[in-house]
Amino acid sequence: MFLRYGKAKLREGVTRIKDGVVNEFLIEGKDKAVLFDTGLDLFNIKDYVAKLTDKELIVVNSHFHPDHANGNHHFDKVLIGEKDLPTFTTQDVYFKLADDIVTAIFAKNPKTKKLQPWIDKLLMTKAGRTQYVPLRDGDEIDLGNKKLIVKDFPGHTPGSITLLDPALRFIYAGDASDIDIWMFTNPDCSLHEYAEEGRRYYKEVAAMGYTKYRGSHMPLTHDISFMRDYAEWIDALTPEKALLRFTVPGAKSKLCIAPRRV
Ligand SMILES: [Zn+2]
Repeated sequence: MFLRYGKAKLREGVTRIKDGVVNEFLIEGKDKAVLFDTGLDLFNIKDYVAKLTDKELIVVNSHFHPDHANGNHHFDKVLIGEKDLPTFTTQDVYFKLADDIVTAIFAKNPKTKKLQPWIDKLLMTKAGRTQYVPLRDGDEIDLGNKKLIVKDFPGHTPGSITLLDPALRFIYAGDASDIDIWMFTNPDCSLHEYAEEGRRYYKEVAAMGYTKYRGSHMPLTHDISFMRDYAEWIDALTPEKALLRFTVPGAKSKLCIAPRRV
């Protein structure tokens, strides 16, 4: 089945939770654990994680997109990149984009309006009572015998962050650098700027000795060199290569979504 839930132990202290098409990661130290992303909310991730660990949980979002943040409302506090702090209005880049796209589609094909309840459930993260706390580049999350370091990687969204695990030389990349997935471009950032960010990021983490990474939609772990290749792929994209093209009212160019073929 396409949508199913599951978990897999990647190594001691690291569990990958699969929520439909998204990976969430539970990273445990001696005293605390990080849940990196809360998924689509197809099931109650808080209850699910409670069965996996009894350690104090720190919930972190890689970025504010619904397939990573819909489960946030189950938690009192969520840490997120400063530039992705949500306001739950169309002031947020994502909500504005989703609202504009949906409005444009409804205007073109009024019959699609009956999909509204599904769109609201899947594409619009609920505000709930969650308190959002900003993370900044270089912040450290101490789990006891282990620490994770926040590293910004803007482009997919303005506030996309990654988590570095220096002990394992491993990176949890969210959607900042991925594989085999539609790319959701941030309308405030050109593809060339995104590619430049990717090259800068790759050079820095390679120089720091990081060797492997995993994106939120990646079925497998990849060598860090795939980040460099991803940046080159982004830079070579043209609208003709897109699978889907949207005209977003007020935007300078069409929004294009392209799958990476490997
Ligand atoms: Zn995303």
